[in-house]
Amino acid sequence: MIIECYPSGPFETNAYILACNETSKGVIIDPAPGSADALIKGSAAIKIEAILLTHSHWDHIGDLKKIKKSFDIPVYVHPADRGNIVKPGSDGLPLMDKIEGVEPEFDLQEGEIIEVGKLKVIVIATPGHTPGGVCFYLDKEKILFSGDTLFKGSIGNLSFPTASPSDMWHSLKKLEHLPPDTVVYPGHGPSTTIGDEDWLPKAQELFS
Ligand SMILES: [Zn+2]
Ligand SMILES: [Zn+2]
Repeated sequence: MIIECYPSGPFETNAYILACNETSKGVIIDPAPGSADALIKGSAAIKIEAILLTHSHWDHIGDLKKIKKSFDIPVYVHPADRGNIVKPGSDGLPLMDKIEGVEPEFDLQEGEIIEVGKLKVIVIATPGHTPGGVCFYLDKEKILFSGDTLFKGSIGNLSFPTASPSDMWHSLKKLEHLPPDTVVYPGHGPSTTIGDEDWLPKAQELFS
């Protein structure tokens, strides 16, 4: 398995390449603003087949149109966040830059499995930070791409226009029960493990 991380844009959003090293097939997760050149260069030896989005905030989709065009590949997003991909800014969160929308091809659903070469990526619906927030989980490899649901030592902002704290507490419960040695690759900041985030059972107390 190959994981490459390119922090990009004003909030250092982590754009990722995830690829299967047996087949050289891969996906891009969250093409952040200003990440396109690095993603294109970084994937030179990989056949990029799709773009997976953890959620629709502009700092995760800034270069979505560029990447989609450049690779001519489909976009996967949860239906509850679809509107803001088609028309960025329609979620009420002010854009810091002009972001071009795209029409996503595929809906992500809870429990769905996306195959990336020989890797199996399981979709875990984690609404809260946004209604259509998801995490991508590789159970065999014990890897979680957590978007802005879970960071090292923290969680995603719950004061944004479409956020729902009660949904977030429920979503974090799902993550809390993953194996402790699961490595977490978040939407911002360094990676961590579920076991290191031992505050997760008290998340509601700590962050509400
Ligand atoms: Zn976000
Ligand atoms: Zn973010």
